[in-house]
Amino acid sequence: MAIGIDWGGTNIKGAVVDGANVRASASVDTRVDAGPAAVLDDIAALVKQLEAKPESVGIAIPGEVRDDGCCWRLPNVPGFEDVNIAGELEKRLGCPVGVENDATAAALAERLYGWGNTYRSFLLVTLGTGIGGGVVLDGHVRRGASGFAGEIGHVMVNSAPDAWECGCGKRGCMEAYAGKAGLLRRYSEFGLIAENVKQIAQAEGEASDAVFQQLGESLGTGLAQINNVLDLDAFVFTGGVSGSFERFEPHLRRALKARAFAPPLAELPLQLSKLGNQAGVIGAAHLPAGSGAGPGHEIQF
Ligand SMILES: [Zn+2]
Repeated sequence: MAIGIDWGGTNIKGAVVDGANVRASASVDTRVDAGPAAVLDDIAALVKQLEAKPESVGIAIPGEVRDDGCCWRLPNVPGFEDVNIAGELEKRLGCPVGVENDATAAALAERLYGWGNTYRSFLLVTLGTGIGGGVVLDGHVRRGASGFAGEIGHVMVNSAPDAWECGCGKRGCMEAYAGKAGLLRRYSEFGLIAENVKQIAQAEGEASDAVFQQLGESLGTGLAQINNVLDLDAFVFTGGVSGSFERFEPHLRRALKARAFAPPLAELPLQLSKLGNQAGVIGAAHLPAGSGAGPGHEIQF
C-alpha cells in the first residue's frame, strides 16, 4: 500500500493509505535545526516503521517544489534549498517517491475523495500557523508554472505603510492578520496572552470575538479578490483553525460581500474539508513519483 507523509512545522505524520482510508499512522518530531540529511533519515525511518517494504511513498512538504523536483526552500526548516527530497528518499527507501507542496497535496485529496465530487473548481484553504491554498480548476489540480500556485497567504489585505509584517518579510499579507502570529498579536492588544489559537477559541468574551472577527475579515478581503479572478464553485477550509469555523464565518461572508466585484462572487459555498486533518497524508499518498509536475503544470492522477 502507499505511504503518505505530511510534513508539518512541529511534527511529521506518516500513514498507510488505502484510497481515502488511513489504515495505520505514526509521527515523529520535526528536527528543525538538524539539517537535511538527518531530517530525511527521520522520514525514511518513519516510513519503514509503517511498512518495511513500501510500494510507493508521497510526501507533502511545507514549501514549494520546482519542475525539476528540487525544493525551492522550506521557510521554517533551514538547509533544504535546492534539495531533491524525492530523489534523496528514493535512495533511502528503494521505492518511487513523489513530493509536492502540502496545501496542493491536500487539494489533491479533496479533489479525489472530498468536495471534488461536488465542485469542479474550488480553492482549498489551509488555516494553521500560516495560510496556504491548493487550486483545483475544472477538475485539475494546478501546481503552477513554478510550483507556487495557491500561495494565498501572501495576497495583500492592507496596503498601509504600517501594515503588520508577515513572516515572508513583506507587509499587509493576509497571513500577517489571519495566521497564528497575527491572531495572537490581536489577542495581546487586549492585554491577554495565548500560546495558540485553540486557547483563544476556548475563551469567551470580547478579545476572543475580536480575534475571530479579524480572522474572518482578513480572509474575506483576500478571498474576494481571488474569486474576482477565478469565479470558483466553492472555498473549502481545512487545518486546525478551521475547527473554529462558526466563530469567523459571519465575518468572512460579510467581508466577501463588501469586496467582491458582484453579488454572485460573494455567494459561493464555504465548506469544511470532508477529509478533516487527514487530507495531507491522503493527498501525499496519491502523488505521482517524481516532482509531481506534468503537462500544463498540473498534478497527474
Ligand atoms: Zn507574506
